[in-house]
This record gives sequence, C-alpha cells and structure tokens, in this order.
Amino acid sequence: MDYTVLKKNFEDHRFQTSYFETKEEAASYLKEQIVGKSVGFGGSVTTREMGLYEMLGENNQVYWHWEVPGPETYRNAHNADVYILSANGVAETGEIINIDGTGNRLAASIFGPKKVYYIVGKNKIAPDIPSAIKRAKDIAAAKNAVRLNRKTPCAATGVCHNCSSPDRICGMTLIVERPGTGMDVEILFVNEELGY
Ligand code: SF4
Repeated sequence: MDYTVLKKNFEDHRFQTSYFETKEEAASYLKEQIVGKSVGFGGSVTTREMGLYEMLGENNQVYWHWEVPGPETYRNAHNADVYILSANGVAETGEIINIDGTGNRLAASIFGPKKVYYIVGKNKIAPDIPSAIKRAKDIAAAKNAVRLNRKTPCAATGVCHNCSSPDRICGMTLIVERPGTGMDVEILFVNEELGY
C-alpha cells in the first residue's frame, strides 16, 4: 500500500484520509472519534473482523442488520449520524467501488448520514477503476456468494460471468469519484488484509 499516492489522489478528490498500520489502531481511532452518536453499519466482513459493532456499541447507539435483521434496522442505519462500511474495490487513482444486491449500503454511503467512514485494507487496492471493478466482482462478490451459499457462477469458478442467476448478489455497482455535496467522508487505510 502506497499511502503517499493514495493520500494525494483521494484528498485531491475531496475525501479525508488517514492511515494505520493495524486494524487495532484503526479501531481505537474510531472509538475515540465516535462517542454519543447513532452509528449504522453496512454489511462488511472488515468491520466484523475489527469487532466494531461491539466496540462502538459501548458508547453509541449502533444499528447493524447482520446483528439485528429487519427493515427497521436498515432504516435506522440509513438515518444514523455516522455510517461505517468498507469497499469492494479501491482505485489508487482516487475512486471507491462498491457492489450490492439490496442497495442499503450504497444508498447510505452517498446520502443520509452526516459522516461516513470507509475502512480499506491493502487487499482492496487496485491500480485503476476497471481493475477495481474487476476485483469487486471476481474476488469480493465471489467470496460473498460462497459465504452466503448463493448458486452463482462466481461462487463455483471464482470469476464473474455477468450472470442472470436468480441468486445474483451484485445488481448494483457504485463508483464514488467524489463525496456528495455536504458529505463528510473519511477513508481509513489499513496496512493489513481486511475482509474481501
Ligand atoms: S454477476 Fe453473477 S457471476 Fe458475476 S459477480 Fe455477480 S453474482 Fe457473481
């Protein structure tokens, strides 16, 4: 991970950035930053690996459909002060790629919460937008399809076939090139492999 390049390109695109050697350092930073807020989480193996739901739940009201499934949790997460998610692919040129089947994570990441934090491990970085999208489909979607026991070509082969499977998990692909107007978006780069 070349943070010098990432910092320049993402801050040129009006994102805030910060850098941590370990996920524990990143988690401690978030625990200091987020106190007395409502906090929504997108579906994210990264945040689960960091134990953020439990950690931030000590001093905040937290909402995560992986812990409390249901439409009310989706709505509360979308309307929270703070939203935390990861990325399926990050282009070193300064763009964030996420794919989704439900759309809750994409929606909350671009409009609603006052502050959005992306947590990005070094395994998510790709040189440019096409390779970051390819990574999001071939690696992130394929592994998520396996995790969710979906019957998709990527789960079987590890490569996206742009399928029309009823189990398709990636109906939407979002490229965030700049934060939305008035949005406060910070990307925490972590020099470890996190999530997928
Ligand atoms: S389009 Fe189908 S094969 Fe490609 S990543 Fe999505 S679910 Fe997998």
